[in-house]
Amino acid sequence: MTHDRSHDLFTRASELLPGGVNSPVRAFKSVGGEPFFAARALGPHLFDVDGNRYVDYVGSWGPMIAGHAHPQVLDAVARTMRDGLSFGVPNALEVEMAEAITRIVPAMEMLRMVNSGTEATLSAIRVARGATGRSRIVKFEGCYHGHGDSFLVKAGSGALTFGLPNSPGVPKALADLTLTLPYNDFDAATALFEEVGEEIAGLIIEPIVGNANCILPREGYLQHLRDLCTRHGALLIFDEVMTGFRVALGGAQERYGITPDLSTFGKIIGGGMPVGAYGGRRDLMSQVAPSGPIYQAGTLSGNPVAMAAGLATLDLIQAPGFHAALEASTHALCDGLEEIAREAGVAFHTTRAPGMFGLYFREGPVETFEDSAGSDAKRFGRFFHAMLERGVYLAPSAFEAGFMSSAHGETEIAQTLEAARGAFAEIAAA
Ligand SMILES: *Cc1c(COP(=O)(O)O)cnc(C)c1O
Repeated sequence: MTHDRSHDLFTRASELLPGGVNSPVRAFKSVGGEPFFAARALGPHLFDVDGNRYVDYVGSWGPMIAGHAHPQVLDAVARTMRDGLSFGVPNALEVEMAEAITRIVPAMEMLRMVNSGTEATLSAIRVARGATGRSRIVKFEGCYHGHGDSFLVKAGSGALTFGLPNSPGVPKALADLTLTLPYNDFDAATALFEEVGEEIAGLIIEPIVGNANCILPREGYLQHLRDLCTRHGALLIFDEVMTGFRVALGGAQERYGITPDLSTFGKIIGGGMPVGAYGGRRDLMSQVAPSGPIYQAGTLSGNPVAMAAGLATLDLIQAPGFHAALEASTHALCDGLEEIAREAGVAFHTTRAPGMFGLYFREGPVETFEDSAGSDAKRFGRFFHAMLERGVYLAPSAFEAGFMSSAHGETEIAQTLEAARGAFAEIAAA
């Protein structure tokens, strides 16, 4: 497998883009080596500019749940774009999108479309602060909510990988307003709310932590947070930018039966185009401009081509059995990997939710951020490259979830497990 063209492009890119990329985790910093440059993608596969093909378990970090370049999504985009790319006045697809989301996710009584997950979470905490008149927000160690100032306080994702718990450029005065709790710790949450509960505008959480690999909530944990928020008049915000429309059609809130006050979405609802959304209780969302005083706007928000891609994707995932099949293939992959690791004598553990999974180079269980951070990142890096050489692209970080799409069939999973046999043998021998 050669990477000459990717190498040339990365050399040029590194002159002009910080780290050669437009988003940090793409740079392969935490696994070493250089990224490959995509030429195209189809179904479960990515093809790079040197002609190599990879089974792709990143799926553009979540949006490509129906596989890459799905013909129904591409047709919807092509049909829509012929009528113009942006209007600056309302269009029918925005209404269809709002109707689709509110039908699938009942807690979304009213919503606003934006252009990224980052915008969605920023806007959601503005609503929480504006509606409650309080300033503090609570987040969880290892959770990532985009790169907004208030969230880059012990953030997960890139910030965790690069050991930058607090980014320069985030004012201390603002960071002070963000309180951080350990995920899955019942008592810590209770204690915090008993101390400052009446100052908390909102608590934001990834209900399944996909940005510190993949940590599932303990039985009753999300309900505990729901109860604390209700008791203390704080708003519960589910950041479902990753889990939304993936771990169940109605997201983690459907899977765990919790009704948040506000929710944020992105990734899948854009079908690969830049899209986010935030929304929830009608009494809260009706305080957003222009129906209320809480300001938020966007020149390209509700973009027709982006709405078309998202709506086509939402159509695909509403096919009967879609999420059950996604769950079955996620289990097939993870069970297979665990078995191969055991045979090779490598300490290894997986966590899963439908359509997403965590790979850990340590023994299970993994229930807390410390458990997750205890994975052997060096071993993961070796595994990552051994798999890449064998045509399988995993998330280029020991602390990011992997994603399954409906285009990943038995053939791709068998190929992945075959590659893993070689990769685990390399690890065991190292
Ligand atoms: C990806 C992600 C975001 C940020 O979305 P962008 O579109 O990258 O700005 C926010 N929250 C969660 C849970 C995410 O996974």
